Amino acid sequence: MTSSSFAHSPPAMLDAKGLTALIQALAARAYRVIGPTVRDDAIVYDDIASVDDLPAGWTDYQAPGRYELQRRTDQALFGFAVGPHSWKQFLHPPVERLFTVRKDGEGLAFAECSASNEANESNEAADRVPQKFAFIGVRACELNAIAIQDRVFLAGAWVDRGYALRRRDAFIVAVNCSQAGGTCFCASMQTGPKATEGFDLALTELPAAADGTSGRFVVEAGSAAGADLLAQLAHGEATPADIDAAHAVVARTAQQMGRTMQTDNLKTLLQDNLRHPRWAEVGDRCLSCGNCTMVCPTCFCTTVEDHTDLAGTTAERVRKWDSCFTLDFSWLHGGSVRQSGEARYRQWLTHKLAGWIDQFGTSGCVGCGRCITWCPVGIDITEEVAAIRATPGATTPAGAANGDGNGDGNGRP
Ligand code: SF4
Ligand code: SF4
Repeated sequence: MTSSSFAHSPPAMLDAKGLTALIQALAARAYRVIGPTVRDDAIVYDDIASVDDLPAGWTDYQAPGRYELQRRTDQALFGFAVGPHSWKQFLHPPVERLFTVRKDGEGLAFAECSASNEANESNEAADRVPQKFAFIGVRACELNAIAIQDRVFLAGAWVDRGYALRRRDAFIVAVNCSQAGGTCFCASMQTGPKATEGFDLALTELPAAADGTSGRFVVEAGSAAGADLLAQLAHGEATPADIDAAHAVVARTAQQMGRTMQTDNLKTLLQDNLRHPRWAEVGDRCLSCGNCTMVCPTCFCTTVEDHTDLAGTTAERVRKWDSCFTLDFSWLHGGSVRQSGEARYRQWLTHKLAGWIDQFGTSGCVGCGRCITWCPVGIDITEEVAAIRATPGATTPAGAANGDGNGDGNGRP
């Protein structure tokens, strides 16, 4: 179907029963199977055991600061975009115990924990075997986000050992998007809506048949492990008509996408416009809540905390997600480097779309739209970039750059 089709594995067909068989086969191979499911009026990623746990017949309405589940007219299993969760919460957990230290007689016993998946209460063994994750329903933008986090955690001088173990064992079942979300812009970022690499299997859900039957999937293998698993499942062969229908699904999704981000020369544009008045305008709207960084599938910043028990016999170091929108994040002796919302928003956006290219050779944005949907005041990253692109070279008033005391050089506290 694409250049990513695994050698000698022509596209196959699975139905909903076959998809349950796939989920069960992964569970039988000791994978913890995670997929989309409805909880608390949202589609989130959690443990699933069969297609019955998938959001059949649901879709999501998304707009800046708006998210709402709505009923579809069919029973499509993947007829929605991305929700507040991303796969980052499994590969790079929000809370991770790095190590514990216990009083041991006259000495101290040190136990490293970062090779495990979670900082939970039973996580005591340094040599605990990490869980293997199987992710069902990974979208193209999310595959790109995982690839970006791979560069951050695995490709530099320091490899994150916990991430490396979780990532090494992950089995990824991608799903090509059949419907663009209201805030998506992956097509303009060249990160979707079709999965082209980084998966073991990729599914395209075909539209419901004339009799209303849903749940027919064209399946493409992207790795030896995917081809091996597919070979063990009862499946049909995809006909040329099935493959054409799968292509049409993705093409229609790309056409539906209402947002774009123009990325030509974006790094230079942003780095040349650090005093653009737009930063003050968006800073005035921004609540510094950090939602955008929490939902973003690529944001990776963390802080560490040390805790001791009340008896003083055990201490632990825990790593937690942090956000560049907090004052603490840039706290150096005596104060925060970025004291204003304006400075913090500018830091986030310019790091994501420009600084990451310097650091990691890639943009930090995959166009998933989560930061737009989950921003309580509806700040839209595509709109902010477009505003700066529309008036490059605009600057804050003369003299404003001095004496603001926060290092952002804009005259605002
Ligand atoms: S910056 Fe926004 S649109 Fe881009 S990857 Fe992060 S959450 Fe998605
Ligand atoms: S841009 Fe929106 S989501 Fe991000 S910190 Fe500001 S108010 Fe919160």
